[in-house]
Amino acid sequence: MEDNKTSRTKRRCSFCGRSEAEVGFLITGMNGYICDNCSQQAYEIVQEALKGSAGEAGELNLKELPKPKDIKAFLDQYVIGQDDAKRYLSVAVYNHYKRLLQKPGKDDVEIEKSNIIMVGSTGTGKTLLARTIAKLLKVPFTIVDATVLTEAGYVGEDIESLLTRLLQVADYNVAEAERGIVFIDEIDKIARKGDNPSITRDVSGEGVQQGLLKLLEGSVVNVPPQGGRKHPDQKMIAVNTKNILFICGGAFDGIERKIAQRLNTNVVGYGAQKETVKIDRKNMMQYIAPQDLKSFGLIPEIIGRLPILTYLNPLDRDALRNILTEPKNSIIKQYVKLFEMDGVKLTFAPEVYEFVVDKAMEYKLGARGLRSIVETIMMDVMFDIPSQKVKKYEVTLDFAKQQMEKTNLSRLQNA
Ligand code: ADP
Repeated sequence: MEDNKTSRTKRRCSFCGRSEAEVGFLITGMNGYICDNCSQQAYEIVQEALKGSAGEAGELNLKELPKPKDIKAFLDQYVIGQDDAKRYLSVAVYNHYKRLLQKPGKDDVEIEKSNIIMVGSTGTGKTLLARTIAKLLKVPFTIVDATVLTEAGYVGEDIESLLTRLLQVADYNVAEAERGIVFIDEIDKIARKGDNPSITRDVSGEGVQQGLLKLLEGSVVNVPPQGGRKHPDQKMIAVNTKNILFICGGAFDGIERKIAQRLNTNVVGYGAQKETVKIDRKNMMQYIAPQDLKSFGLIPEIIGRLPILTYLNPLDRDALRNILTEPKNSIIKQYVKLFEMDGVKLTFAPEVYEFVVDKAMEYKLGARGLRSIVETIMMDVMFDIPSQKVKKYEVTLDFAKQQMEKTNLSRLQNA
């Protein structure tokens, strides 16, 4: 007993010098000890240091940043087609870095912000592009949804909450958040219904747009740190949006008609010399111009603050076929991996791919449907295989057809 006591007073923390009896417990090392208190402090110091070095790493150095071509090459690994949108995005991100690097007051040339708007039907890859680019960004990035703005009662007040997520991503480091990028999805949902303001029924849409304009223009706004509605006793965080890059995306359902209308009127106007210009009616989106956004119901001020307008192509058969197998984490690669984890080599007869694409086209499910269709085909196999002693499995066309027949496809259409 006595011995134990002496040894307890003899062993001391090599950092604070307190004896074992004075501390919670000691951790024994090769040549010394550390007490619970000191190890806790050490942990905090490490965390601080890491934060500090992350801050330094966060310092942008143009030479080390990916160039637009590198950014596009990265996007190519995950997103099929959509070359125009990729190029625009790559340049915009690179220019955003440049803006952040410019030294104020050196000369009179100030690089202005160029927010982007991407227009394309649902399921053509807008969100995928945004998510993918986020992986290589050196600044905080978040995706927010504009639909929540229309759902809220006091719309105008909640716009600032779009920045809450950005603050959270930046660990509430305001300076970091102020150079971030925000992707606002479903921007078309805040469009005014109809071109003519006098017949507008949707007043709120315009109210939200006015609010959004404030963010896009660059101003100091008060952001609720926890999001949601402003609350009297919630402490607001002031965020300057001057250097925040906004990328907006929307499906703008039916905008093709507006584009066609405009193109037709133009033909009447000065059609004579333009006869040689052929319009590709299957993909009207490629002709999109700012005035079409106005016809759709975005106010001109917003359009003016989104100077870069780009589009996504509708996905054709070939694109769907590629999406199935080509991207780095394609749907098929994901299933192969799932089976690999059970030690099973999964293969597909090539006709199965064509079949899946046919079904997606037939039911107008687009890229989103590909996964549900493959899931339907694979369900029973995924249920059985892990309990069987097989080393490989091939999905044949007959099997795929049989599985699809069993399913009520109307269920998939809501996918
Ligand atoms: P959007 O935001 O345009 O409505 P998403 O980006 O959410 O569409 O796309 C839905 C899903 O479809 C994605 O998760 C992806 O699996 C697939 N997809 C859509 N377009 C593409 C594409 N161009 N390349 C690869 N996959 C795509």
